[in-house]
Amino acid sequence: MENKNRKNCESCLLPLSKDPGTSGSEKYCSYCCKDGKLVYGGTDLKEFQNRSYQEMVAKGMNKYKAKFFTWMMRFAPRWKK
Ligand SMILES: [Zn+2]
Repeated sequence: MENKNRKNCESCLLPLSKDPGTSGSEKYCSYCCKDGKLVYGGTDLKEFQNRSYQEMVAKGMNKYKAKFFTWMMRFAPRWKK
């Protein structure tokens, strides 16, 4: 927990310090993870990006910011092969 503020979500790279909710996980943000379980369990990055973008906008995030975070997701540890 002590390093949490410097970490980024391993699925979407959102800084965990900016996470508006609680994920129940130390690796993932509350967009990607609920009660310690991944919200999207699939392996399709595009589908994940679409879902995440919709959710960020729905939660009130600026659309340009949401687009930027969505674009960044491809570099997250979860999607690296
Ligand atoms: Zn995330």
